[in-house]
Amino acid sequence: MERTILLVEDEEELAAVVARELTGAGYRVLCAGDGVEALRLAQEERPDLVLLDWMLPRMDGLEVLRRLREGSAVPVVMLTARGEEIDRVVGLELGADDYVTKPFSLRELVARVGAIFRRLDHVAQVLAEDRGAAAADDGDLLEYGALTLRPEYRQAVLEGIALDLSRTEFDLLHLLLRNPGRAFSRSYLLDAVWGEHYVTGDRSVDNAILRLRKKLGSLGEAIDTVWGVGYRLRGEP
Ligand code: CA
Repeated sequence: MERTILLVEDEEELAAVVARELTGAGYRVLCAGDGVEALRLAQEERPDLVLLDWMLPRMDGLEVLRRLREGSAVPVVMLTARGEEIDRVVGLELGADDYVTKPFSLRELVARVGAIFRRLDHVAQVLAEDRGAAAADDGDLLEYGALTLRPEYRQAVLEGIALDLSRTEFDLLHLLLRNPGRAFSRSYLLDAVWGEHYVTGDRSVDNAILRLRKKLGSLGEAIDTVWGVGYRLRGEP
């Protein structure tokens, strides 16, 4: 599958060199010289990844990133110059996936891009397998301690009382119950439960887990926080 990268860089010589390197690595490359053009191309061409320079004419990289994130979860790698550390932090909070500091080596840039695509491929593959497994045992009743889940009826019963769960909370619980003992990253949970509808950040996962723990009462303690990763339902209640 050919992947399209949108390169947003106003320094023409640098853009040409980077574009040549990426093309050589097998990617299709689109170039935009300013922020407005970048947004137009992102909208029309739906690139698989965006390389986004910080200092741009007409609209800076921060604003481009903000607007991109209003409707898209496309991976974004920021290209920043020195002395932009504060901006860099803000950029990552806004949902950039990575950054490289100028001057950067072309090999490093291509390696970073490759790493992001490998991560996406891996998540997509695991998701597809999990969805297949979920579809296969959708009719099955799941039990965990005093909790019973009937996926077919989207019903969760704790100690004989039906729980009032949102769609997201139910899907999250369903995923955890199917895989006790397995640790899930926040980004995996975002993809698996929220799909492509989420906009930015991973607070939505933390908030949903928080609500789920509360609704599960003492059983909620069985959902462990895995430091630096995400969450896991203990193997045994
Ligand atoms: Ca620039």
